[in-house]
Amino acid sequence: MGKWKVAIDRDACIGDGICASLCPDVFEMDDEGKSKVIKEIIEDDLHDCVQEAVDSCPVSCITMEEA
Ligand code: SF4
Repeated sequence: MGKWKVAIDRDACIGDGICASLCPDVFEMDDEGKSKVIKEIIEDDLHDCVQEAVDSCPVSCITMEEA
């Protein structure tokens, strides 16, 4: 079973909320209108939805690497 570390470059985030709607267990919009990671280390069950968020982010500011 794999583990991955998820991060966002918050300076680049434009706050469209795509990641939070695709994967609400991992991303949440904060009161600055930007996304934040609420679960930094994820396992297989969340990998596919985070990958979808990585692929869908219009400014490519989400990263996921093996932890
Ligand atoms: S998809 Fe990207 S730009 Fe949109 S809220 Fe998430 S991190 Fe920010």
